[in-house]
Amino acid sequence: MDTRNIELGRVTGGAGWETLRARFSGLLIRPGDEGYDAARRVWNGSIDRYPALVARCARAADVPTALEFGRAAGLTVAVRGGGHNVAGFGTCDGGLVIDLSGMQAVRVDRARRRALVEGGATWAGFDREAQAFGLATTGGLMSSTGVAGFTLGGGIGWLMRRYGLACDNLLSAEVVTADGRQLRACAADHEDLFWGLRGGGGNLGIVTRFEFGLHPVGPEVLGGLRLYPQRLAAEVIATWRDLMLAAPDELTLSTVLRRAPASPSIPDHLHGEPVVAVAGMYAGPAEDAARVLRALDALGPPLVDGIGPKPYTAVQAMSDGAWQPGFENYWKAEFLRSLDDSVIETVVDFAGRITSPLSDIKLAPLGGAVARVAEGDTSYPHRRAPWVININTRWADGLPDAHVAWTRALWEAVQPVSTGGVYVNFLGDEGPDRVRAAYGESNYQRLARLKTVYDPDNVFHLNQNIPPAR
Ligand SMILES: Cc1cc2nc3c(=O)[nH]c(=O)nc-3n(C[C@H](O)[C@H](O)[C@H](O)COP(=O)(O)OP(=O)(O)OC[C@H]3O[C@@H](n4cnc5c(N)ncnc54)[C@H](O)[C@@H]3O)c2cc1C
Repeated sequence: MDTRNIELGRVTGGAGWETLRARFSGLLIRPGDEGYDAARRVWNGSIDRYPALVARCARAADVPTALEFGRAAGLTVAVRGGGHNVAGFGTCDGGLVIDLSGMQAVRVDRARRRALVEGGATWAGFDREAQAFGLATTGGLMSSTGVAGFTLGGGIGWLMRRYGLACDNLLSAEVVTADGRQLRACAADHEDLFWGLRGGGGNLGIVTRFEFGLHPVGPEVLGGLRLYPQRLAAEVIATWRDLMLAAPDELTLSTVLRRAPASPSIPDHLHGEPVVAVAGMYAGPAEDAARVLRALDALGPPLVDGIGPKPYTAVQAMSDGAWQPGFENYWKAEFLRSLDDSVIETVVDFAGRITSPLSDIKLAPLGGAVARVAEGDTSYPHRRAPWVININTRWADGLPDAHVAWTRALWEAVQPVSTGGVYVNFLGDEGPDRVRAAYGESNYQRLARLKTVYDPDNVFHLNQNIPPAR
């Protein structure tokens, strides 16, 4: 059955269609229209869906207009910010995509160190505007990630140990709720909604504008990556782990195991070779950085030493080349309570058996300012987890089975050191138990009660869904 045609008939046949066309100031893109194929796609190339209508909003007022139309037509509603969600919630089959990518304005108030950011902005745009004033807040490790999905799930980035997660820097949000109301949520107004937006994902409404607090950062910071041969991986990871356990908040470094990508910053003879990278940022005075990083000297000279002074925006974009859109992806992740030598051994073993040259295993620290917030203060709960593992599997050979099996086997092998939790933004389409694991019972129940208040019909269900409490 081709649901596309059935749903399309409902879109264009109803009386609401002409009203929508008259009131909507953005682009309405339907199957057959120019640009439809690009408009239906999201970052993860495994997601191949055909919405009946993509409503690319140009201003905040377009959002309730599109939503009202979608609800009246009985269409499934997907909401898209940067389109990076690996589960593909930014698109759908046969329904309406409310696409905010036409709303990317960022306005910085230098004196008050604040930024007003539209709901479709990416970190590239955010960082460019904020850095014009030497300011920043915690953003994504890749510059094309959407500010919206990233922040609404929590927001893990290089500045988090110094300044907290992205959601910890959120001061207010303008939200369109399921009934079309436009609310402003902050600590003083709709405080419950504000709590829910700082971790609860897209469950509670469509954010048209975020207000962030900013910090002086850069314009130059110390950042980049060092590459070592993967045969040294166990030693590199253990050294990095011990460094991070004692590190100041200014330092956030991760380790990544993969085949070296064909990046211009990596010599040709290393392309495709198994490597381990130590990558990250020191967001403090450059003169202190050498002392802080001295522990890495014990590893001897790296294959590539790319850690040095760089524009903050360059460090924020350093992963972009390796993470181009369009490839097929299957990811799993988990918070870990320890990285003892046996876990390291497991990770190194799986890296040696990696099934795709595009995949990687990333180990990242949390701690610092992330851990100084109480678990119930935001709907993002994982404040005490010291480590997170990402198994980011990607391929271009069209043969998912071996890649998925490898990913799942590694994920299962690290379960003995799991905290039991997972970060909602690193979840694929993994079912309701994993969504519960992303919140913990107390935050989950509170979010379910909020869902009953703000979205009782579960209009916003294409997300890591928290159904309304009944
Ligand atoms: C290459 C890559 C790198 C990444 N790096 C990081 C990282 O460094 N740190 C990190 O924490 N995460 C990272 N992520 C995960 C990322 O945070 C999530 O995928 C996040 O959901 C992306 O947000 P988005 O707006 O781009 O995605 P979308 O797919 O557009 O949206 C994600 C979810 O948010 C909802 N949503 C989007 N916009 C809005 C809005 N305006 N209002 C309400 N709901 C909305 C959507 O409905 C969907 O459920 C990365 C992902 C990728 C693919």
